[in-house]
Amino acid sequence: MPTREVGRTADVSFEDLGIVPAICSALVEMGFEEPSPIQVQAVPALLAGRDVVGQAQTGTGKTAAFAIPALQRLSADGPRPQVLVLTPTRELALQVAEEVSRIGAHIGAREAAIYGGQPIERQIRALRAGVDVVVGTPGRLLDHLRRATLRLSGIRFVVLDEGDEMLDMGFIDDIETILQALPEGRQTALFSATVPPPIQRLTQRYLRDPIVLRATPEHLVAPLIEQAYYEVRGMDRATALCRILDVEDISRAIVFCRTKRGVDELAAVLQARGYPCEAIHGDMAQPQRDRAMARFRDGAGELLVATDVAARGLDIEGVSHVINYDIAQSPEQHVHRIGRTGRAGRAGIALTLIGPREWKQLRAFAEVTGARIVRRIVPTEADVALAARDSFRRQLAEALQADDLGAFVDLAQELAEEYPAVRVAAAAIKIAMDGARPAAEAAGAAERDHGGDGRAGPRQSPGDSQRLFVNVGSRQGVQAADVVRAVGAGTGLPPAAVSAVDVHEDFTFIEVPRDQAAAAIAGLRRWRVAGRPVNAEPARPRGSG
Ligand code: AMP
Repeated sequence: MPTREVGRTADVSFEDLGIVPAICSALVEMGFEEPSPIQVQAVPALLAGRDVVGQAQTGTGKTAAFAIPALQRLSADGPRPQVLVLTPTRELALQVAEEVSRIGAHIGAREAAIYGGQPIERQIRALRAGVDVVVGTPGRLLDHLRRATLRLSGIRFVVLDEGDEMLDMGFIDDIETILQALPEGRQTALFSATVPPPIQRLTQRYLRDPIVLRATPEHLVAPLIEQAYYEVRGMDRATALCRILDVEDISRAIVFCRTKRGVDELAAVLQARGYPCEAIHGDMAQPQRDRAMARFRDGAGELLVATDVAARGLDIEGVSHVINYDIAQSPEQHVHRIGRTGRAGRAGIALTLIGPREWKQLRAFAEVTGARIVRRIVPTEADVALAARDSFRRQLAEALQADDLGAFVDLAQELAEEYPAVRVAAAAIKIAMDGARPAAEAAGAAERDHGGDGRAGPRQSPGDSQRLFVNVGSRQGVQAADVVRAVGAGTGLPPAAVSAVDVHEDFTFIEVPRDQAAAAIAGLRRWRVAGRPVNAEPARPRGSG
């Protein structure tokens, strides 16, 4: 089979791929700026009715690569269901169904996730009500076939997602049984990070003259760039990032997010936690982008949060760190991103945050770039405190070397006559360090000043209300009413006292009367979401920094 390499794909839009406006507008709402390399190749092929084998991991945009054509090719008055997606796990089934639902938001498609562990009756009801796209794990799908609660006669498009994982989990026979039960003329797509022999055999037996797509294994390394990754689990990504920012010696860092919305949300969270940053993405007007860039270049801001498209072509001096808050979608994109640091022969550091499912993708980047990407552990609060201490010690040592202490020496001498000199020094250190930048989630962190940049501003909302930042959001299943209830439960504040509840993916902003803010924070901190304590703190005013 001839293999097409998926390489760099600058300046191709979703429209260019032949995607209909109803789906394009959904993609815009999802914050996608441009198709990922696998999408550029796979979407037109699948829209043209071809079978496709895509060698792609999680994080490459493979789900949308098949979901877009699957949805676009639905026929409104055809039999149901028309599309079947097989996934190895329940988590992936849910994730794929969610992505299908968002991409299909404007074409009125219905989808169902069918997996083991959920009561089968509920699934039967959903299937009976009529769905266009069924996403499921092989075992449970077979179960429905045996009960005749799922009909496959209308299937025109089948996707095997994460083929190698399904193989590893022993689903190969189940998959074959399902494939054999499908109509002859249907279209088939197989996505798999690797293509071991059993997957290859499956391809030969069940796909018709497939187009094979694979990322280009180009060696494009910048040897001066040190690469490391952090696996983030058991805490939110933003907290991990803040801890990393606290311990790293950063002169200037670019933080990459996958989507425009991701940039907005992360910038808001960083601002709220006392890390001034600039943000750029494709939806911002050019003058606005230019202003943000100017501030970043001038050194007024040390952090720039950006999408790939917005950061394209930027050449900025002195970037000490590139941080992949979301992992890149292709080796080329990864290489591109990390090339922003280590310019002009200087060393740079590229750090990548990954979720539990993304390490394969990362390993592929390491292979393609021929570089080592070492593992690092997300700093603990103690690490952050230690780093703050070290950094303060260095500053103090520098101040001791300098000759400009004159005015302070008199005061020090005066105090030393009254108190032991060591205690005088300790008290001065305490005052200085308490005023330093707050640790990511230290209590009351956001109330402290983080000194010196002149853009922090007073942390106040207009009027008599106080805006609060709460570190849970829709991704944790939190809804506006839950937040209002949590405030009330802790404080007896009536629901009406909580206003402007603004739930984002990973955090929420609310407003409460200023004199009740402390009580509301205490109430929220007693709240548990998925067993974990919630943090709340005063937010910085909108648009500051
Ligand atoms: P996947 O590789 O399908 O697991 O996708 C990884 C993540 O990338 C998902 O959160 C998708 O919503 C997102 N994604 C997919 N395509 C794009 C795109 N073209 N631009 C930005 N994000 C995308």
